[in-house]
Amino acid sequence: AMANAASSSPGNDSTSLVPERFTRFDAHPGYQQLAMLRQGAEQLGLKDPFFKVHEGIAGATSVIQGQPCINFASYNYLGYSGDPRVNQAACEAVTRYGSSVSASRVVSGERPIHRELEHAIAKAYQVDDAVAFVSGHATNVSTLGYLLGPKDLVLHDEYIHNSSLVGAQLSGAKRMSFSHNDPDALDALLSRHRHQFERVIVVIEGLYSMDGDIPDLPRFIELKKRHQVWLMVDEAHSFGVMGDNGLGLHEYFAIDPRDVDIWMGTMSKTLSGCGGYIAGTKALVETLRYFAPGFLYSVGMPAQVAAPSLKVLALMQQEPERVEKLHSISRYFLQQAKKHGMDTGHSIGAAVVPIIVGSSPLAAHLSHTLLEQYHINVQPILYPAVPEKSARLRFFLAYDHTQAHIDQTLDALAKLLAQAQS
Ligand code: PMP
Repeated sequence: AMANAASSSPGNDSTSLVPERFTRFDAHPGYQQLAMLRQGAEQLGLKDPFFKVHEGIAGATSVIQGQPCINFASYNYLGYSGDPRVNQAACEAVTRYGSSVSASRVVSGERPIHRELEHAIAKAYQVDDAVAFVSGHATNVSTLGYLLGPKDLVLHDEYIHNSSLVGAQLSGAKRMSFSHNDPDALDALLSRHRHQFERVIVVIEGLYSMDGDIPDLPRFIELKKRHQVWLMVDEAHSFGVMGDNGLGLHEYFAIDPRDVDIWMGTMSKTLSGCGGYIAGTKALVETLRYFAPGFLYSVGMPAQVAAPSLKVLALMQQEPERVEKLHSISRYFLQQAKKHGMDTGHSIGAAVVPIIVGSSPLAAHLSHTLLEQYHINVQPILYPAVPEKSARLRFFLAYDHTQAHIDQTLDALAKLLAQAQS
């Protein structure tokens, strides 16, 4: 009735004044950008490198459109996604609890498996408690968005993941970035700005997913103590990868996990499920459990999604040899790539190794040809995800990649690179 009243009153009819570009989705800048990208790919004779369909379990190998291939595009680092024991855990959980918990955990969505998973995560970090969100992205958005406010400051590595950026924006806090893995740059910013703000949080990652490098965590801890700020470490890619047992950066550096205020991680990589977690003190975790919007106003994690991660945490303790294998095959990849004279940037050779090729069209061409001619799947990372001159192929290693997989891949890539240069 209101709408009718508005449109029937003559002075209020502004329809003719609204340009079409504000009402049509195909006039949206995003759609236009996409059209340009597709046109560019077509001119180069390349297929769209995105949304490739894998037909089954994606690990060290996979099947893409009927074609078996060596796969370097999945973060199934310890090969637990697809493991029959992990599948079994998911099946038992769905049978017992049903496929949805049918409510936010705060209001009747709670199931025993939620706390079992959170206790297992807290135990891995030797901290008081943990809370599990249904999405890794939402974990960073909600945690930063809720904990900080307009009188606060978020200081982050320039390569921080989008989810932390969005969380910082949502919080209304002032946001500044420091150059990648540069504690001195952070120190300078803190010396200059700490006193202007109430709460200050420094956000870094445990293993950077575009570059395969890690922060000097002990230095960041020294700085966070000296300047009295919080330190948050996003372990999406480092949990399951770093440290002899895959327990992440605290194990790798042998530091006290309580020296990091907020441990964040995801269930979507090594833990072979879906979702994110925050681990830390009782006060931190309880606050988020009652107030973080992406937890409070979102459904509880389905049991068949929680169960695999709980199972993987147990399997990791029984099978540390998988972590050892991942480390040695990753080091092998890095060494061999360097032998071929390829640019691996700052990668330390732990599960993530980029090969920087210097232009987006070349990266797209290499990825396309590796898949079409050699049945090797690796994603190109193109501008604007990275600066144009550092466009790359980004390789995710898995514990069950073999030296033969790697030799075959690097030989093919070396040949294509030589052809591209001649
Ligand atoms: N943090 C980092 C560093 C990530 O790389 C990602 C995504 N891969 C996320 C958070 C978001 O996690 P998810 O994909 O599980 O939502």
